[in-house]
Amino acid sequence: MMPIARKEQFFSLFPEAPAFRFRQFETALFDPTLRDFSGISNMPLPMRETLDKQMAWLSLHPAHVLESVKKDTYKAIVELGDKTRVETVLMHNARGQWTVCVSAQVGCAMGCTFCATGKMGFTRNLLSDEIVDQYRFWKIFLHKQSEASGRISNIVFMGMGEPLANYDHVKESIGQLLRETDLGPTHITVSTVGLLPMLRKIVKDPEWPAVRLAVSLHSADSDTRKAMMPSSFDTFLEELLEWAKSYFEKNESRRRHLTFEYVMLSKINDTEKHAEALIRFARRVGKVRINLIPYNFTGSVYRDSLPADFARFETLLKDAGVTVMRRRTMGDDIAAACGQLIVEKEKQ
Ligand code: SF4
Repeated sequence: MMPIARKEQFFSLFPEAPAFRFRQFETALFDPTLRDFSGISNMPLPMRETLDKQMAWLSLHPAHVLESVKKDTYKAIVELGDKTRVETVLMHNARGQWTVCVSAQVGCAMGCTFCATGKMGFTRNLLSDEIVDQYRFWKIFLHKQSEASGRISNIVFMGMGEPLANYDHVKESIGQLLRETDLGPTHITVSTVGLLPMLRKIVKDPEWPAVRLAVSLHSADSDTRKAMMPSSFDTFLEELLEWAKSYFEKNESRRRHLTFEYVMLSKINDTEKHAEALIRFARRVGKVRINLIPYNFTGSVYRDSLPADFARFETLLKDAGVTVMRRRTMGDDIAAACGQLIVEKEKQ
């Protein structure tokens, strides 16, 4: 059975409760020193006792938590109220702080051919609470571990699922994270396969928070992209270009850039021809940053780019004046590709 949102549970327990009680409740959820409702000192005791009996402190619990040898990456399979499972990751970042990667769906309907999650199919959207609780889970985790202590400075929606296919819950979760944590919108990134109707909705939505967007481009050659991503189509790149113009117009005052994610697959999208197509496309879009991502899903027909091909591709982009970053490979000893860990555990 689909879990019920916390707000609904709260008001079904306390139909007469004033709105400020729920705000107290929500704020307390983000205190990593608390482990249950009994510690919410500004709430009446009978209310706390009812909450402890009737509601779970977290909407998920960890089924497996893995730690990389370098202790710079932790990966958890978490079980939700209906026994479905998603992955969430905690990574040490370049600032010496931590980034949390959250999932937005159980499985994914997009079917990208290089992705472990894409092979699982789609089960359901996560509730906003279940997204936010992935952050809360890691916050508590860091609080308990003195050797891994530190601040969570970034959240990326790059785990399982397509965040924009779960628009309302993702938007609600971002709103709550912005209200209840010390994170600003530029420290939250939503990654999308490029769902154009939803990207257009973002531009028109006055309440969509000013978070960063990353589009999983993976190729600026239409045929290559269609072969890698069944959600792509002939006019996708031209339509994305049009959308990017409207996005930059809306965000003119924010000096905002777009990020294109680009997973490097040997002989598939890492040739000179592909680099040239990407350079041309990046120039047409304008304020773009390309993230080149080493490929690390072992159960796939694809292979990671050879080091020499990767380096040549990166150099071609840099020489053409395109802003390019190479994503660090982290946690490859703990089944790095998103979804891969769940697939492996289910086989066991
Ligand atoms: S890459 Fe993202 S959008 Fe594509 S199948 Fe995997 S989880 Fe879904």
